[in-house]
Amino acid sequence: MSIQRILIYPEDCLKKVAQPIQDFGTDDLKTLVQDLLDSMYDAPGVGLAAPQIGVSLRVAVTDVNWRSEGAEKQHQVWINPEFLWKSEKTEITEEGCLSLPDMYADIERPSALRLRWFDVVGNVFEEDFEGFQAVALQHEFDHLDGKVFIDYVSALKRRMMVKKLKKKYFS
Ligand SMILES: [Zn+2]
Repeated sequence: MSIQRILIYPEDCLKKVAQPIQDFGTDDLKTLVQDLLDSMYDAPGVGLAAPQIGVSLRVAVTDVNWRSEGAEKQHQVWINPEFLWKSEKTEITEEGCLSLPDMYADIERPSALRLRWFDVVGNVFEEDFEGFQAVALQHEFDHLDGKVFIDYVSALKRRMMVKKLKKKYFS
């Protein structure tokens, strides 16, 4: 078990476009996935992307239900995820992020999508998602492109949030 420090925005790795995984099934990749899971459950959170622990690779984990009453842990691992389709229909959800503690904003995103991704050993999957899971996946995969949810809020609100984070964590 290896819990990693979760980076706080605007640390550099959170703003970089992450690289795709080329070699599947390696010990390094398995360790990265386990570190992500340990760190997500410890935080506690419902999703974590590799750049959030300082690793600029296209890997993320989620477990969107485990914090609900009576739910079991049931994680999913997403490697090199790619959106094949996003709905025109959108929905607004209040989002937060382990890399932006105590910050929340209503974010509008497509409410359904089709995804292709790989697992740790390189099997490829394709599936449709909707609702909270679709929102959570878009949030996590934004991290792989160096984006965070406050990139969708007004410039003024974003500046205020970044200022608060800098004051609290970097001064
Ligand atoms: Zn996040």
